[in-house]
Amino acid sequence: MNIPSLLTELALPTFFSYSSQWRAPSLANSHLCIQLPLRDMNSIRYVDQMDLAGKRVLLRVDLNVPLRDGAVADDSRINAILPTVRYILEKGGMPIVCSHLDRPGGKRVPEYSLRPVSVRLSELTGKKVDFVDECAGPKAEQAAASLTSGSMLVLENLRFDPGEEANDDTFARSLASLADVYVDDAFANAHRAHASNVGVTKFMDQTAGGLLMKKELQALEGVLEKPDRPLVVAIGGAKVSSKMATIENLSRVADRLLLGGAMAFPFLRALGIDVGDHRANGEAVERARRMLDERPWSIVLPDDFAVDDGGRREVDVKALPSDKDVLDIGPRTIERFASEIRAAGTIVWNGPMGKFEQEGFDVGTRAVARAIAQSPAYSLVGGGDTNAALDRNGLGGSISYVSTGGGAFLEMLSGRELPALKALERPKISA
Ligand code: ADP
Ligand code: MG
Repeated sequence: MNIPSLLTELALPTFFSYSSQWRAPSLANSHLCIQLPLRDMNSIRYVDQMDLAGKRVLLRVDLNVPLRDGAVADDSRINAILPTVRYILEKGGMPIVCSHLDRPGGKRVPEYSLRPVSVRLSELTGKKVDFVDECAGPKAEQAAASLTSGSMLVLENLRFDPGEEANDDTFARSLASLADVYVDDAFANAHRAHASNVGVTKFMDQTAGGLLMKKELQALEGVLEKPDRPLVVAIGGAKVSSKMATIENLSRVADRLLLGGAMAFPFLRALGIDVGDHRANGEAVERARRMLDERPWSIVLPDDFAVDDGGRREVDVKALPSDKDVLDIGPRTIERFASEIRAAGTIVWNGPMGKFEQEGFDVGTRAVARAIAQSPAYSLVGGGDTNAALDRNGLGGSISYVSTGGGAFLEMLSGRELPALKALERPKISA
């Protein structure tokens, strides 16, 4: 089929979807095709299966919080791990909390100290929280040894030591020597193989996931393993090359895949639409073409956009100016995406539909966020910028589950095995 006739065929009422009607795809097949490292989820033990009484618990969390004037500027990451901290304390364990903060690059950078985080943790829990300005070595050992029941210790930023990101065994062994058992509650870091979430597990007899880890994995498992149909997945954002694998994997299970932001360009180009060479490169276009060939009914693409013409100007997809930035989806696309979302049994969303930080170009992202928030369907949303867009619109509370995972969330959706989850898999807790 040549491109012009393909285009004619595709020029359905308004959209570049092969079908505007809901047509049940071969669900059994799509289900078998999804790559999800389910093994991780079923074989990981969690902290609520551990005997914690009197135990020192090395607790890896993600407390990479923004700091301002030496204090915590946003404590949502601390709040996210409080259930695990409280659980350990209630069961008579003594948490030894460790985390990275920002990217100090393997050396001590005072403004990235976790001390302010330890202060906030004490305020939020109402418990005594000690802080030690080392994460391994004699000082840390001394501080860990002097912990008493009902209190906890925060170690200094793991990334002050080059051994952390190098997944160095010596550093991992020193961390392990501080505690009796190990709990990993840092889902957002699970796609990295570092000493505090991978290496350390080799030197601990008992390892488990924390309660946040459990919630994250159960949310992903529920959505991808047995979603209520139709499963509608919306993907936007700007990280085209890194998100193609995620889209590929999700295209195998999604009944509808709505593509906005810069993610739509390789697909439009694969359909022969002139989106401008600079907006879609060769490999991404090839991968898009393959997906369009394999599951044509499921992929829904924008047929209008908003460009920056000194302000918002809405244009048809076939009239994209090559010299203007395309920064949002247009009104017909918004309506189509919203109606797909309204019909969904389950919704997954990652990636803003446009450059929502710029005035006039937040319309598509807000409309999609609202449609998801208003839907009674189970909704799973994740991504650093996506979560920020939800917060801007005050909609976080109307989503069934907002993942704290960021990159780990996307890697999980792409079906890759996350090293930290693999490290937790070995059954180490004696029954
Ligand atoms: P997330 O962090 O949620 O995974 P991404 O990092 O992939 O999302 O993408 C978010 C960024 O993409 C935002 O900064 C947004 O401005 C940008 N973006 C989305 N659509 C466009 C577009 N059409 N043109 C330029 N930037 C865009
Ligand atoms: Mg981002």
